[in-house]
Amino acid sequence: MRKIQMVDLIGQYADIREDVQEAFDRILQSAAFINGPEVAAFQKDLETYLGVKHVIPCANGTDALQIAMMGLGLKPGDEVITADFTFAATVEVIGLLQLTPVLVDVDPHHFNIDPEAIERAITPRTKAIVPVHLFGQCADMERIMEIARKHDLFVIEDNAQAIGANYQFSDGSRKKAGTIGHVGATSFFPSKNLGAYGDGGAIFTDNDDLAHTIRGIVNHGMYERYYHDVIGVNSRLDSLQAAVLRAKLPHLDRYCDRRREAARYYSRAFEGHPMLTVPETVRSCSGICETCDCHVFHQYTLRVGGGKRDALAQHLGSNGIPYGIYYPVPLHRQKAYTDPRFRESDYPVTNQLSEEVLSLPMHTELDKEQLEYITKTVLAFLNGED
Ligand SMILES: *Cc1c(COP(=O)(O)O)cnc(C)c1O
Repeated sequence: MRKIQMVDLIGQYADIREDVQEAFDRILQSAAFINGPEVAAFQKDLETYLGVKHVIPCANGTDALQIAMMGLGLKPGDEVITADFTFAATVEVIGLLQLTPVLVDVDPHHFNIDPEAIERAITPRTKAIVPVHLFGQCADMERIMEIARKHDLFVIEDNAQAIGANYQFSDGSRKKAGTIGHVGATSFFPSKNLGAYGDGGAIFTDNDDLAHTIRGIVNHGMYERYYHDVIGVNSRLDSLQAAVLRAKLPHLDRYCDRRREAARYYSRAFEGHPMLTVPETVRSCSGICETCDCHVFHQYTLRVGGGKRDALAQHLGSNGIPYGIYYPVPLHRQKAYTDPRFRESDYPVTNQLSEEVLSLPMHTELDKEQLEYITKTVLAFLNGED
């Protein structure tokens, strides 16, 4: 059996090697490293793939979130509601801009922000909601957009983990993750579902004015060369990264299929086990779903009951199976973000998840033999055979 990796990018490279090398050579020969034609071409390709009017590439996913908030004109003291159970980047940029983060609890089945908790947290100072499409599927965007309309709030989607995911509304219409709210932000960190060979990110919007504002912000607040109308940042996607992303984009749906196949294998093996809860999808197709394309499984995350998570993790580690614990500490308990307004009793689900979640190896190169070994090792341990 091949050595199991948490993320394996080598196999993907074999497929796109010629495209990438040819593009790299072209870029190196032209020396157009920043804002070259490759970046413009990738931007167009991604706009088409997502069905969104504007893609603005930038340097990474954290910048994408920050720039989206700057573009919307959020001001110090404005309250921004987001999930307690996410990667810290989401709340970090809220803090950096001196906005006030308001952390709310998540749903125990699909791990995404709980719309009812959002509604309870709204005050006259609330200006925006940042749903995070955690582990590869959209939050309940239909409900969140309803709440946003009712209270006149912006919705900024943190789509770092769900690029390529679809979202189906109750009337049957569909949109791509990240294109539902007023603005979406994504990351092309190498291990994300669409990953560069370095850092990268992008912002999406259908709003022409907002897109224009953001295009200036990413480039030092310049709308005309050397005229700085607003305080901006320096956040650019470089041409080499754009070339990698452009080579990978035509394969993204196939990458997502491969991840879903692995997820189905896992869920078939684990579903119904008394100590395990398999990940559920947000809407309509709970459990194992054969045709659904709303989840792109950035992570395959189990809940392990009975206080056995850490012991199982250790067992996996000593049997050559890498794992992840995303995320071991809820944001409201992180030193940087503690706030007397956050009460433990407001976060029962996040607190429990932080003790139960365990993410298994998930990437496009997992084969049957590896999946069988992983599932057998998990089950044998929990059933006391090991
Ligand atoms: C990865 C990630 C980010 C940040 O992306 P970078 O490109 O690493 O800055 C933000 N939010 C979430 C949920 C992420 O997973």
